[in-house]
Amino acid sequence: MSKLMISVSGIRGIFGESLTTEIAQKYAAHFGVFCSRGKIIVGRDSRTSGPEMFSAVSASLMSVGCDVIDLGIVSTPTVLLAVEESDAKGGISITASHNPAEWNAMKFVGENGMFLFPQEAQLFIDSLDEPIEFAGIDEMGKLTQDTEATKRHINKILNIPYLDIEKIRTKNFKVVIDSVNGAGGLISPRLLRDLGCEVIEINSEPTGIFAHTPEPLNKNLKQLEEAVAAYKADIGFTTDPDVDRLAIVDENGKCIGEELSLLLSEKFILSKVEGDIVTNLSSSMASEDIAKKFGVKVHRTKVGEINVGKKMKEIDSPVGGEGNGGIICPEVHYTRDAPAGMALILGYLAESGKTVSQLAEEIPHYYFAKDKIKVAPNQLDRIMAKVPEIFADHKLDSTDGIKVIGDKYWIHLRKSGTEPIIRVYVESDSPEKSQELCRETIEKLVS
Ligand code: MG
Repeated sequence: MSKLMISVSGIRGIFGESLTTEIAQKYAAHFGVFCSRGKIIVGRDSRTSGPEMFSAVSASLMSVGCDVIDLGIVSTPTVLLAVEESDAKGGISITASHNPAEWNAMKFVGENGMFLFPQEAQLFIDSLDEPIEFAGIDEMGKLTQDTEATKRHINKILNIPYLDIEKIRTKNFKVVIDSVNGAGGLISPRLLRDLGCEVIEINSEPTGIFAHTPEPLNKNLKQLEEAVAAYKADIGFTTDPDVDRLAIVDENGKCIGEELSLLLSEKFILSKVEGDIVTNLSSSMASEDIAKKFGVKVHRTKVGEINVGKKMKEIDSPVGGEGNGGIICPEVHYTRDAPAGMALILGYLAESGKTVSQLAEEIPHYYFAKDKIKVAPNQLDRIMAKVPEIFADHKLDSTDGIKVIGDKYWIHLRKSGTEPIIRVYVESDSPEKSQELCRETIEKLVS
């Protein structure tokens, strides 16, 4: 039996097992109270459990006096933007993001259109023990639909001030878009057509029956690679089911890797606007090379998009995000937004006159290795304590776990929030070196 995962970013589980409608109702009612029983915007991805989850969540919110605005099937960034641009007190995105179809989840959105900050999320989690006072017959909330949220989201992207939309349109890019039958099918092709592209859609039906493993990693994108090559397209895009992660296939039908989605966006935006980059500790050090070229700095935060978005807002950063294909463009909002990423990448293609593979080639090449150490739960801290001893001659950053920083390499060790494992991430300037550093580090820690 799977376990319900509870974290600052929300709750996640296998529908009907660890995540039932009863649990969803409990969290929704408490969230309604937490948001002072105001208006709450709710959207969901295309999962087959979405209608049941929505019914449970909306009924529960109304029962504590919240008016519910139903966006239907939309991307997570569409929910976030709708909350930010309305007088809603909060929002809920019903989506298990990149997880397989049997999963579902609730992500909680604050009044400002960003996910709850870690401290707020903790306050919300703490409030779950309090009794719920349900609304009387005169105070119960109402349910209304908003079918225009996706359109407003697209318009916001088309109005990014430094994006030359007309120039993109004159290029008539041929684009293959794989929405994996997630929520993306309802926004990405529409945006791409608005950008004057000839669009070839694969897996565009929002059925929730995912055409392949939905995480946009290279190994899951064979169908897109083949389609880009077969149609001789300029570029292929794919997103996860809730459309906040973007991966790219070049004109030769080859995945360029999720890290490149952010790095190319950084390079394009910095050619337009001055300011520092913000990204998390586990994203590629190519950001530092890009920042150096433009004479700006990189700020590294804890992993988790809310930490990146919060820092960007604080320092008025023009670009940031996470290496897993999560691009944050503040001209749209301070959260990861794959459709915005598509527009930026097409803008870069249009203005540079180069192909995707040429642009990718210009980004400094680094290589990741990832692994995990499974340990008894009571041994986690003992093992982490060995890191500073083993790497005593290195620069260490303990913002989030421990990051060991060397010359043209780094090793990041973090305890998982949900399982008794330590995640090991390595990046260096050669694939062999990264594998070797990863292997050696694990060997030293468990010996
Ligand atoms: Mg996602």
